[in-house]
Formats: sequence, C-alpha cells, structure tokens
Amino acid sequence: MKRLIFMGPPGAGKGTQADIVKAKFQIPQISTGDMLRMAVKNGTTMGLEAKKFMDAGDLVPDAVVIGIIRDRLVEKDCANGFILDGFPRTVEQAKALSEILKELHMELDSVVNLDVPDEELVKRLLGRAIKEGRSDDNEETIKNRLHTYNTKTLPLIDFYKGTGILRQINGLGSMEEITDSILKQIQ
Ligand code: AMP
Repeated sequence: MKRLIFMGPPGAGKGTQADIVKAKFQIPQISTGDMLRMAVKNGTTMGLEAKKFMDAGDLVPDAVVIGIIRDRLVEKDCANGFILDGFPRTVEQAKALSEILKELHMELDSVVNLDVPDEELVKRLLGRAIKEGRSDDNEETIKNRLHTYNTKTLPLIDFYKGTGILRQINGLGSMEEITDSILKQIQ
C-alpha cells in the first residue's frame, strides 16, 4: 500500500516513472493531465473550458482539478493506494488535497520530486512534441509551462518539506537509475 505524489516540471519523466512504480505496487496512477485530455477529446463542457488553459500552457483553474481529484480518490481502486501524477500543482490544490485525504482517513506516504534542469526539459519537450504531436508542446507553450511550474508549483516543495515525506530525486540519468533511486527512497 502506497499513497504517493509524483512532482516535477513538465518533461521530468513523472509519467514514465509513475507508470513503472504503479505496476510494482499495483496501484492506480491518477494523472490530471490525462483526465483533462480525455475530457477535451470527449468534448465535455469541462474539456472545452480546460482546453483554452492547456493550449496556452497555463494551469486549469484549481476548482476544476480539485473536483476531478475528489471524485477520483473515492473510487474503490484507490483504497489500496495511488500515485498522483501532476496533482497538486498549486499550494491551493495541496491544501485541498490535505483536506480530502483527512476526510477519507488517508495519509500520504511520500512526495517524490524529480529534479531536472530547465535546458534539459526544453530539449526533451521539443523532442516529445515531434513524436506525440501534443497541441501544448510547441516552443512558446513549453516556455510558458516551465514558467508556470517555476512560479506556481515550485512553492509546493516548501509546503511538503515541512511534512518530512518529501523525497528529492535527481531526474538526470537512465530510466532504470531513476526508478532505482525512487524505489530506494519510498520503501
Ligand atoms: P500534464 O500532462 O500533467 O503536463 O498536464 C497538461 C496540462 O493540463 C497542464 O499544462 C495544465 O494546463 C493542465 N493540468 C494538468 N494537471 C493540472 C493541475 N493539477 N492543475 C492545473 N492544471 C493542470
């Protein structure tokens, strides 16, 4: 049983590592980015609203993503743990998450932060843009997403530092090396 948060700037490899770790612990990976992309694809009202923010590289409003997470964490498959991938991204979201978990009588085990320098991130994201054709992976949006991360999400490191469950991981290296250091730190 593990309740984990995976944090890190766009392009740090959160999704890839969360994929590996979820299989190891048999827990669901909850990606707000994936859920929002699904809503966009399905053309829901929420999706249409969210798309504007996503395409600009801005954050979708807190109330929207907090609602998504609240609905998801009460699902049965979260009873044995979960990985939150890409949530929380603001201090407001982190506070809301604390409240939701308290209501559900759940406690977080670890907050894993993948650290990768900005120059490397831009390189990786531009590479991914060509491969996957994500509509928010052009150079201007990438720069804005990094800026958004640095201004809105980075303060979360301090928020979680005080809790004693923050695990700082060097996000440079091979996929296996990074998985190893994550597993060592969360076990
Ligand atoms: P991701 O796939 O995690 O990089 O997310 C893609 C985009 O979805 C982000 O650039 C945001 O526009 C939006 N998004 C995903 N998660 C959140 C969140 N927790 N808070 C606000 N916006 C989010």
